[in-house]
Amino acid sequence: MKSKRFCHSGSSLPAILIQSPGHVGQAFQPAGEWGFPAPRVRPGDWKVAGTGRLESLPYLTSYGIGLLLLAAGCALASEPTPSVPETIAVETYARRAFNYLDNMADKDGLPYFNIFWAEPAQAAHDWPDFGDVTSRQLQGAIMARHMAGRSARLEKDWYKQVLSRLDAKSGLLVRPKTSYCEPGADLGDQALTLYALATAYAENRDPALRAAICKLVDHLPSLYTPDHWLRGFMIKSLMTCVRAADYKPALDQAGQLVKSVFEEHPAFTPDNTFRHGGHMHASLRTLVGAADYALYVKDPVLFSRVDALYRYVRSEGTRFGFLPEVIGRKGDVVSCETCALMDYVGTGVSLANNGHPEYWGDVERTFRNQLVESQIVDGSWLKPGDKPDTEQFSWRDIGGRMVGGYAGWSSPTHILAAREDLQWGGPELRGKTRATQNCCGGSGTHAFFIVWKNAARFENGTLSVNMHLDKLLPQAEIRCYQPWRGLLTIDLRANCRVRVRIPEFVSPSDLAAKSSEGEVNLRIWGNYAELGERKAGEKLEVTYPVPVREEECSIGNPGFRQFRYRVTWKGDTVVKMTPLGDMPEKAYSDFDKKQVPVFYGTEGPGPLYQREPMLKDAELKPAALQMDDGTLDFWLLH
Ligand SMILES: [Zn+2]
Repeated sequence: MKSKRFCHSGSSLPAILIQSPGHVGQAFQPAGEWGFPAPRVRPGDWKVAGTGRLESLPYLTSYGIGLLLLAAGCALASEPTPSVPETIAVETYARRAFNYLDNMADKDGLPYFNIFWAEPAQAAHDWPDFGDVTSRQLQGAIMARHMAGRSARLEKDWYKQVLSRLDAKSGLLVRPKTSYCEPGADLGDQALTLYALATAYAENRDPALRAAICKLVDHLPSLYTPDHWLRGFMIKSLMTCVRAADYKPALDQAGQLVKSVFEEHPAFTPDNTFRHGGHMHASLRTLVGAADYALYVKDPVLFSRVDALYRYVRSEGTRFGFLPEVIGRKGDVVSCETCALMDYVGTGVSLANNGHPEYWGDVERTFRNQLVESQIVDGSWLKPGDKPDTEQFSWRDIGGRMVGGYAGWSSPTHILAAREDLQWGGPELRGKTRATQNCCGGSGTHAFFIVWKNAARFENGTLSVNMHLDKLLPQAEIRCYQPWRGLLTIDLRANCRVRVRIPEFVSPSDLAAKSSEGEVNLRIWGNYAELGERKAGEKLEVTYPVPVREEECSIGNPGFRQFRYRVTWKGDTVVKMTPLGDMPEKAYSDFDKKQVPVFYGTEGPGPLYQREPMLKDAELKPAALQMDDGTLDFWLLH
């Protein structure tokens, strides 16, 4: 059924509401009392990530004052762009996210879902702000703290906000009534809230929080309907409750939902696609959860289906990580949502950690390219205004406050693919041009966290370098110099076996390794090079060629306009994106039912892949790293 039910109290996940061909509008479901009941759960002890920040001496010499301020917890607007390039570390992008997290909220700490591209640009509250957006921001802030060693200004406030919206009787998150929001409890809000609270519980172990989580889980079945399009969206949230809080009813519900989605009312075809139509974020979140469930209950058939569906998804995207937000759009506009990239890398690492190491390359390429490019670094195309904030709107420095936030709909060349309008809400919202949707505001940081947790791991006496990214573990400091150079160094701090994934563009015979303590005999095993038993104090170097090569690719909805590109790669990094052929200034939007300005060529807001300096070698500064203490790991899943 094609959804055109764009009401305020519609089911959650705003992007899906307007865009999923499979969306089924959900009737409003009362959930007892609503409003703002007093918090019933103590925030508990907030364990701030340790002071494991690692600064190299040369870096400190150049950036010492700025970093000392950062270490002191000062709220710098954003990371300065270094004049000398740095090694690629996820921490760099996590630190940039603080500008968005700290500033894109109103005086009461409520984040804004909508950013409108108007003169001046506007931030506007909308119904997703109370459940969806706040819960994602809370979870993103917790994850950002682990990656950056400092807390977002509003993290504790968001925690209190979410807890205060849990209904006293049902335990469900209930949106309040405002001029732009109808009260209600829906499944999407519950899924995102449960995942955020389970993340907080995995860290603070507060018994009162566990009680709140269990109460919420107990009341979820009242929201399940046999063909609810967000059934699968809940599975990962439930499995995180199972693993973090050991709550058996959550496992039972996850099993029922898996059965519903994969057997009773299938969301996917028997040949493992959703070619018939589907929302990428919702479908991939279902796969992240199903992979977790399959591993927990040891169901190889289900795990195999997740693998097959993942392979279908990667066939719908590009090698640099552009994924269509919706499968089955009947128009020319195609765009990539950061929320979908989060669940793409989430599914990829869940598979890669459990028998499919061939997918590490997908995750690393997606991170290095479309995910990194989806973080806003220049919002100057969003013109500032000087009107004071109202209850619903803000016009103050929207472009500056969005730096560190994320694209809602990127193209391969621009931070926004098309000038489409909001199709829901009252007259103060409807018809305005959307610049970003800030569901992606928490999701982008969550995506970075998934990559950060999995870049390298130490398990059972073995250090595995899965991605060629900088990483600091208690057992090793790993530095990688791609794309400038084919060099990876490991400074070992523990006796262990060492293995390094061989990049897809490297022939195993072209890979070499040496140690400060003598010769290293490499053993090639699958797509890893094994460096054998090494000793603490050894410095290892792995070298390989980083070829520059070109490929052509296209994106577009089947049966509609296709957009072609020449992609210049250096190793796993795109260093240039060249549009090919005639790129139209306008194209047909099936949502707006008209031709709209599109940005697939050289002209448009927020140009991406401005990376030609990466074609040359350069002296690099080591990026500042944060020690991974091993907590909050939702993807290893043995
Ligand atoms: Zn999103």
